[in-house]
Amino acid sequence: MYHHIKKLMYTVQIGTPDPKFGNMLLEQFGGANGELAAAMQYSIQGLNCDDPERKDMLMDIGTEELSHLEIVGTLARMHLKPLKNNRTAAEMDPLIAIAGGGGVALQNSMGDAWTADYLKITGELDVDLRSNIAAEARAKIVYERLIHFCADGGTIDALQFLMTREITHMKAFTAALESLGKDRFSIGSIPPTPKLVNQYFDDSTGIGDRGEPNARGPWNAGGDWELVEAPAFKEVESDEKGTRQASNGPAGNGKHSLHTRSKSRSRE
Ligand code: MN
Ligand code: MN
Repeated sequence: MYHHIKKLMYTVQIGTPDPKFGNMLLEQFGGANGELAAAMQYSIQGLNCDDPERKDMLMDIGTEELSHLEIVGTLARMHLKPLKNNRTAAEMDPLIAIAGGGGVALQNSMGDAWTADYLKITGELDVDLRSNIAAEARAKIVYERLIHFCADGGTIDALQFLMTREITHMKAFTAALESLGKDRFSIGSIPPTPKLVNQYFDDSTGIGDRGEPNARGPWNAGGDWELVEAPAFKEVESDEKGTRQASNGPAGNGKHSLHTRSKSRSRE
């Protein structure tokens, strides 16, 4: 159950209202990486979670995000308030001024309505935790950008608090994921196809106009990696020989022949 306590999680004080900044703040109110999205994502994941310990964590953090929503909303409202009565301020954002009376609404900084499509909820705990770690990283960087564009000390204080909490959540989600004891690349129950899983398809050739290299790194070299050069050209080669097969890739271990251009050519 929820209970509202008439006290903000972090006290908000601002100097001179900055309506344009208030508008940017809406990104963290009703935007894709904002507090409502975080609160809903974790809370709904929690409802789906059969693991009582991690469910407790999801509900704790989901609830804290609602408190963040309250802080951001309060902060944005303080900055947007002049839009209600000040014509010059109102012209900056007629939607907030005329439709919203200088108040916050569940929209992003461009006025797009909040949508549940922002949420990543799969019903698979480890997959959801990975989404949450990424969501916290995005929230952190959005707060950082807001801080860079903010000139008001009181506002920066509140944003620094909120930004810090996102890293706290990222640590908690990461620890929860690790505590499941699953292999890093084990997702779900069906194992990936051996050999194919270790093939890196080098789908770009040549050096770019600005010297962009055909790069090698731990993402395609060393360990189990097998570099497969230009698989598309290999497909064409085998196509011309009339031997092209639908496959799981250049390894060609598929079973079904494709009806290919080469076959129609061979009938000519
Ligand atoms: Mn938050
Ligand atoms: Mn968070």
